[in-house]
Order: sequence, then structure tokens, then C-alpha cells
Amino acid sequence: MKPILYIVVPCYNEQEVLPITAPLFLEKLQTLRDLGKISDESRVLFVNDGSRDRTWEIIRGLAASDPHYLGIAQSRNRGHQNAVLAGLMEAMDRCDITISIDCDGQDDIDAMDKMVDAYLDGCDVVYGVRASRRTDTFFKRFTAQSFYKFLAAMGAEVVYNHADYRLISARVLREFSNFREVNLFLRGLVPLVGFKSTTVTYDRAERLAGESHYPLRKMIALAVDGITSLSVKPLQLITGFGLIVALVSFLGVVWALITALCGKSVAGWASMTCIVCFVSGVQLICLGIIGEYVGKIYLETKQRPRYIISERTWEAENTEHKS
Ligand code: UDP
Ligand code: MG
Repeated sequence: MKPILYIVVPCYNEQEVLPITAPLFLEKLQTLRDLGKISDESRVLFVNDGSRDRTWEIIRGLAASDPHYLGIAQSRNRGHQNAVLAGLMEAMDRCDITISIDCDGQDDIDAMDKMVDAYLDGCDVVYGVRASRRTDTFFKRFTAQSFYKFLAAMGAEVVYNHADYRLISARVLREFSNFREVNLFLRGLVPLVGFKSTTVTYDRAERLAGESHYPLRKMIALAVDGITSLSVKPLQLITGFGLIVALVSFLGVVWALITALCGKSVAGWASMTCIVCFVSGVQLICLGIIGEYVGKIYLETKQRPRYIISERTWEAENTEHKS
């Protein structure tokens, strides 16, 4: 039995690039099928992440034009990670393997051949890893690399230079569906499921059209999410840092006492101000980090759904038939 492959593609305001990349995904599906590697039941599944432009109309049009295209729509924009999850969970029971990929053509579609080969060789998870970032701007390259290094330093292990281009088998997805966290950081969570995995390297190209939705602000938010949902190292660092500050303060007290006893004490306004500012600054930062974790606990206890699917292209067809 040949495996059924679902290519899961999150789309948010992608009306410019979708008409260019959608046929490329379909072509890849056909090539893999002609090579006898995947089943005829394989599909491209678009996830519309609450786009405000014509993305959903385009997806519906694609689905009507070719049965190999499917689409689901989230009830509102919930972010890239949740969109990918919605697609993977939707695909899980209909296929044997999923490959998640961005819809902007930056990730080399041809790497899918190697991913499927690795699956056929017995790997359940195949991470797409960027070999070079030549086409990224210096700023993007620098921030992205700092992102991975910072994550690793903070105890959140992720595959270096791997974004969300990866193959996951349905078997792994079924186990993964038991990971119930609301704070999603897929590239940190998937390795925790285990199973045999490997990496496939590819060159990252430029966006074919449209603009990036990951400005520095979102990247920092993703890093904070990744760290606080995967590791408690920052809390340990705070404790260590607190100890150091306490030690220094203790030495300061000794120094102040000696100075006072020697009768050399002067009204040290400057030093007092510095100490007060420094210590209160440190305390606020520490409180902020702890607050970040408390906030995560708060969100997790609510157990809200991680995604809500409002429409499916194939169901839309059914209701149209009925009416
Ligand atoms: N995306 C999404 N929801 C969002 C933001 C982005 O589904 O809120 C999708 C987007 O359509 C694209 C992928 O996530 O397919 C990656 O986004 P983008 O290319 O803008 O990020 P970059 O590659 O610049 O990091
Ligand atoms: Mg992109």
C-alpha cells in the first residue's frame, strides 16, 4: 500500500503568492505519485488563518478546480502555529504522512522527495533544515540565528535552522494530539514525541510574492513562547542571579558598616540612588519573567480550544448540493 500524503499549507493574507505556489504543490504531488511513492488519494490541504484578503476565495476556487486541493478555514486569525496544528489534526485521520510547508515558496518544494524517501526508509519525522540563508537580509539572518542560539541557551532545544517545514507520520500525530498545551511551539514539541527522525537540508529562497508576517516583534514573541513553554531555565537563572545580587548587597552592607565605624561616612546620595535603581530594576525583570510563566499557567488552565474550524471546502460543496 502506498502512503497517502497530505501537504498542509497555512495561509494568512497570501492572495499574491497563493496562485503562484498552489500549482507547484500540486505538481509535486503528481510527480511523487508518478514515481510510485505516494497514493492517488494524496491531497494539498490549505488552512486559511482568518485572512482579511481574498485568500479564502482563492482556496475555494482551487478546490473547485481540482479534487486534489482541499481547504479549511479557521474562524479567525490565530497565528501560524495554530494554523499548522489545525491542518495537521484535520489531516491526521485521512492520511499516512503529512508535510507542513509555508505557502510563500521560500522552502524548497523539491526537498519533499527526500522527505518521502526518508519516510519510506522508516523515519517517522523528517525535519527540513535550511542550508543557507543567502537570500535573507542581513538583519533577518542575524535575528533568526540569534533566535536559535538564545533558545538553546535558555534550555529550549530545537533543531537548528529548522522552521515548520517537516514531514510527520500520522502515527506520530496521533501521539502528538495527546500533548494538550495551548501555548504552541511546534518545532520544540515535535521532538518531544520521539520516534525515529532525520533531517533533510535545502536552500531557502526568497518569498515569491507578498510580504513576511514575521517581523522582529512576532519573532521575539515566538522565542518567548518557545522558551517559557519548553523550559524553566529562566526561573533557575533568576534564582542564581538573585543569589549573586544578594551576595553583592551583603558585601555592600559590610563595606557601609566599616566606613561608618571608621567615621568616614558622608551623605552618599549617588551610591544610594544607583543601588535602589539597580535592585528595583532587577526585581521588576524577575517579576516579569515569573509573570510570564504565571500567565502561561492561567491560559493552560482554561483549556480553550486551540483552533476552531469554521468552513471546509468539501462540506461547502455538500451544502450547496442540498440547497
Ligand atoms: N501565517 C499564518 N498565520 C499568521 C501568520 C503567518 O498562517 O498569523 C502563515 C503564512 O501565510 C505563511 C507562513 O505562516 O505561509 C509563514 O509566514 P511568513 O512567510 O510571513 O513568515 P517568514 O517566512 O517571513 O518567517
Ligand atoms: Mg516566509
